[in-house]
Amino acid sequence: MSFSHLGLSEPLLKELVKQKYTLAYPVQQGVIPAILNNRDILAIAKTGSGKTLSFVLPILQKLQGTHKAKSRHIKVLVLVPTRELSVQVAEVFQLFGMNLPQRVKSMAVYGGVSINPQMIQLQGIDVLIATPGRLLDLMDSNAVQISEIEILVLDEADKMLNLGFKEEMGKIFARINPNCQHLLFSATFNQEISSITELLLKDPVRIEPDSEKENINENLELITQIAYLVKEERKGPLLRYLIKKEEMKPVLIFASSIHKVDSTVSKLNINGIQALPLHSKLSMGARTEALQLFKNGKLRVLVATDLASRGIDIPFLPFVINYELPRSPKDYIHRIGRTGRADSPGTAISLISPDEEHHFHVILKKMGKLMEAIPTDGFDLKGY
Ligand code: ADP
Ligand code: MG
Repeated sequence: MSFSHLGLSEPLLKELVKQKYTLAYPVQQGVIPAILNNRDILAIAKTGSGKTLSFVLPILQKLQGTHKAKSRHIKVLVLVPTRELSVQVAEVFQLFGMNLPQRVKSMAVYGGVSINPQMIQLQGIDVLIATPGRLLDLMDSNAVQISEIEILVLDEADKMLNLGFKEEMGKIFARINPNCQHLLFSATFNQEISSITELLLKDPVRIEPDSEKENINENLELITQIAYLVKEERKGPLLRYLIKKEEMKPVLIFASSIHKVDSTVSKLNINGIQALPLHSKLSMGARTEALQLFKNGKLRVLVATDLASRGIDIPFLPFVINYELPRSPKDYIHRIGRTGRADSPGTAISLISPDEEHHFHVILKKMGKLMEAIPTDGFDLKGY
């Protein structure tokens, strides 16, 4: 279905054409008209299904023709679990908010960087995209007022709860205009999401595209999965062999610890393969820069902990490699789900050491997938 039947205004439709979005994804078909219709929303849809635009577009439209926000009062609050996601969502608001008749000002705030510049910039902001902890700090400093917001968005609500933001979210909910429109987005539905829904949402429209109800594996159709059986000490050489032989670029590699990420990056660099790390011990600046370079195609390899396995959207990513297996089948799916997005196929490769073989079979069984790991003892890895 095209975007033009969903009630969106001309300027937004024009911008969609300009950005080469032609057909609305299922979740967008359901969510956009319902938001425009002032309804509360409970949307359950997998990662990569286009949830961001489904709330950004109608929110921008609803802000047209309204009064400018009063100094430190914001009109729309979007809560997100990570700094990276807050930046990414703010970019979408800015892209589509820029050329509207009434310009909409949006801003991302997150922890891990100094609070003062954020406090200064928080003047006349319409849409604030925030991680819960930093928002509370800003509220405590009177840098922002949320008592008069018109719309509250909870993006990746399941992830926020998993990351232990429940208490912070409760504090925020207590200070919010209770009559605002509530929009909740989540990749999964569980008891906790259900209780937030009951607590907060008023007669919500529940949007759950059909495919979401099916087995999560259905969504992995676009991804070719390959596993190699390899001794621990040959993992590094095999990794470099595969990257070079397959001329992989770009490729996202997951490792299990910060230490492993750093050592993998330095060995890749020593061997002439351009790589940068992404993990929680890096400064925000370093993380943003690595991601930006990677997204722009200026970085060949990004090596990350599971920090990057959810929420982050990389439009063109043909290869994902598990240097080590993640702990759970769910994490495995989230990791490999980084590739094969937005209708372009991808390959996910796992390097399995003898110690990991049992765990690998557990993951396969949970996914109901049949796959044989390829033995690599005969591979000539000399020079890699
Ligand atoms: P989610 O929040 O559901 O995980 P995103 O909103 O991050 O998903 O969207 C995933 C990707 O799909 C992004 O690259 C986005 O630009 C793209 N996308 C969203 N809607 C459409 C559409 N209607 N047509 C084509 N691509 C789209
Ligand atoms: Mg999202």
